[in-house]
Amino acid sequence: MFEYQAKELLRRAGVTVPRGVVVAGDPTPADVAGLDEPLVLKAFGAGLVHKSDAGAVELGLRRSQVAEAASRMRAALAGRGVTAAGFLVEEQAAAGVELIVGVVRDPAFGPVLLAGLGGVWAEALRDTAVRLCPISEADARAMPAALRGAALLRGYRGRPGVDVDAVVKLLMTVGGPGGLWERLELGEFEINPVIAAPSGVVAVDARYLPA
Ligand code: ADP
Ligand code: MG
Repeated sequence: MFEYQAKELLRRAGVTVPRGVVVAGDPTPADVAGLDEPLVLKAFGAGLVHKSDAGAVELGLRRSQVAEAASRMRAALAGRGVTAAGFLVEEQAAAGVELIVGVVRDPAFGPVLLAGLGGVWAEALRDTAVRLCPISEADARAMPAALRGAALLRGYRGRPGVDVDAVVKLLMTVGGPGGLWERLELGEFEINPVIAAPSGVVAVDARYLPA
């Protein structure tokens, strides 16, 4: 399942994802005419998992730059033996705190919700909280507070705090009763990152790891 398909599942579950378009060939100006700048261009295709490592993510584009960026990206990927099946062009979310939210299947305990500081540094930071699914609302409130980086969410050095209620709602949507974790037949699941800001949360990357 590609990123845009995982995001469609999220959108249907009520999680905010960026507005975007999916194109099989190179995106034309008409394809992106309805999107607000700045834009993000991402390639998808078999074997493209860590997109930024592969040079398959470009941020900060204007509508007029997307077509050229896509043909450049397609050529660069082909040079490394990767075929882009198509592109997702989406609106760039405002900056905020990048979080990871995921569901993993623990061999002993079963489905576990994981939440922590995310983005491309998630593995270096290893700052996560875990709870068994289904989580309660009290769990959802406790998880962000339990992070070493909790101060980043509360507001830090003049930066405003993020919408913690929106983070809690997202955690319940993923790991709470009736949440996305119940669809584990689809595999393990990771939103990385969801960008948390004062105005709410936006899931800008999502993927399923087949069961
Ligand atoms: P990867 O497959 O490398 O994890 P991502 O889709 O997560 O690719 O993109 C890499 C980084 O680019 C993200 O961690 C985030 O910082 C940024 N990013 C991606 N999409 C968006 C977006 N729509 N809005 C804002 N930032 C984005
Ligand atoms: Mg990512």
